[in-house]
Amino acid sequence: MDDIDRAQRINEQLQADALFAHQRKTQAATESRTHCIDCEEPIPAARRKAIPGCKRCRDCQEIYEHWRPL
Ligand SMILES: [Zn+2]
Repeated sequence: MDDIDRAQRINEQLQADALFAHQRKTQAATESRTHCIDCEEPIPAARRKAIPGCKRCRDCQEIYEHWRPL
């Protein structure tokens, strides 16, 4: 195994670690929030239940979806 192989293997390991960390973070982020991340209004329990990982109230979600850059 030469240096390039070794570097590549280290790189792959780093990427795997980063991906794992990212997945863990994403997983935590997909839990529904009790309050909207934009306006901080409480999100109704029914909405949180209906939409797993919901982070915004209905109004903010509409704005977010409408104005999201393409
Ligand atoms: Zn909101």
